[in-house]
Amino acid sequence: MRKLIAGNWKMNGTQADIFELDRLAIAHGAGEVDVVICGPATLLSQMVRVGLNIGGQDCHTNISGANTGDISAMMIADTGARYVITGHSERRNDHNENDALISAKTKAGWDAGLHVILCIGETEAQYHKDETLDVLRAQMDHSIPDGASEENTTIAYEPIWAIGTGLTPTTKEISAVHAALRAHLVTRFGASGTAIRLVYGGSVKASNANDIFALPNVDGALVGGASLKATDFSPIILALQQSV
Ligand code: PEP
Repeated sequence: MRKLIAGNWKMNGTQADIFELDRLAIAHGAGEVDVVICGPATLLSQMVRVGLNIGGQDCHTNISGANTGDISAMMIADTGARYVITGHSERRNDHNENDALISAKTKAGWDAGLHVILCIGETEAQYHKDETLDVLRAQMDHSIPDGASEENTTIAYEPIWAIGTGLTPTTKEISAVHAALRAHLVTRFGASGTAIRLVYGGSVKASNANDIFALPNVDGALVGGASLKATDFSPIILALQQSV
């Protein structure tokens, strides 16, 4: 299994920031792991010229139509991007996206030939009530469509309380969650379930990357804040490359 590290630029970045990708492409473009940058829709066409894998951050369920402000998976693919994120907690929370919608968006991504990075994660309250695994299993059951495989899908476990906060679960907790997610994927998808990548996201930075990447069933990372600057992201990519 090739490991994957994806940067999620969220609503950040203008044309002046593309040079950050040039630096990453020179250092990591042809390495042993898949490096993906999920940029804002406005920059995708430019980003694909750099030579890294590029993705969108969300897509509509339709290919085209009267959906003002939305972007379709087909349009993302048309830029030359090959990936798309679905189910990010900021979409689930800010736009009231539920598992059924995320499942439909994921299928739309597949139909456009995109590899989908599908996010799941518990809230802080659910974490403290020890509901994490129940929440994650339900999200997996209802947001991952039938037909998921290692070719079309990566699952990102992102505890919501760890996103952008500097907090992370302990390595023991990440290990336990990823083992449970792996078992659940195998039960549902058989052999494919052993090969679908399971990446961790939530305040990954250079100082914790080595410990997180050493864990079994952690097949990479989804990185927000620390992916915006090459000087921050490069050491994290290097940590993943050195873990394989
Ligand atoms: C994210 O938003 O997907 C994320 C992991 O953010 P951060 O790395 O900033 O916590």
